Amino acid sequence: MKLLAASLVALLTLGQPAPPIDASQDPAVGSPTSYRDAVFALLEADLNTLRDREPVLRPVSLEIEELPAGLWGYASRNLIGGWRIVVSEAALEHEVLARETLVHEYAHILATRAGRFDEHAHGAYWGVAYSRAYRAVFASWELAALPPLSKPEDK
Ligand SMILES: [Zn+2]
Repeated sequence: MKLLAASLVALLTLGQPAPPIDASQDPAVGSPTSYRDAVFALLEADLNTLRDREPVLRPVSLEIEELPAGLWGYASRNLIGGWRIVVSEAALEHEVLARETLVHEYAHILATRAGRFDEHAHGAYWGVAYSRAYRAVFASWELAALPPLSKPEDK
């Protein structure tokens, strides 16, 4: 039920980058299940933002699976000609890790606008795609969260 409600929120905020989880606004965020639900809802919202701001030709689905340790996610073609992004269950324990994994994998798909898909290639085309996807999801709140610049102390 919570996932359904989160999905509705994600649909209503289509195209708007999701802010980070603010535990002070949701007392239920303290429990592991609700935290994972909240992170999953953020991933859905982020995927909608990516679809809106950096569209690709084929539909992209999001799935959560148990993956081997150290593998946080991957992107591949699905059986009906679309794309699927898989994020590991373990990544849902860490909001930023899960969101960065989604952005990383979406960048592999986005890079197909410039060439062929190679899930193991992290070259220049993927790098540009990663930059664009990263900015779409994180720029609005990550930069605002940085401390103000200060000059190095003279000593
Ligand atoms: Zn990769």
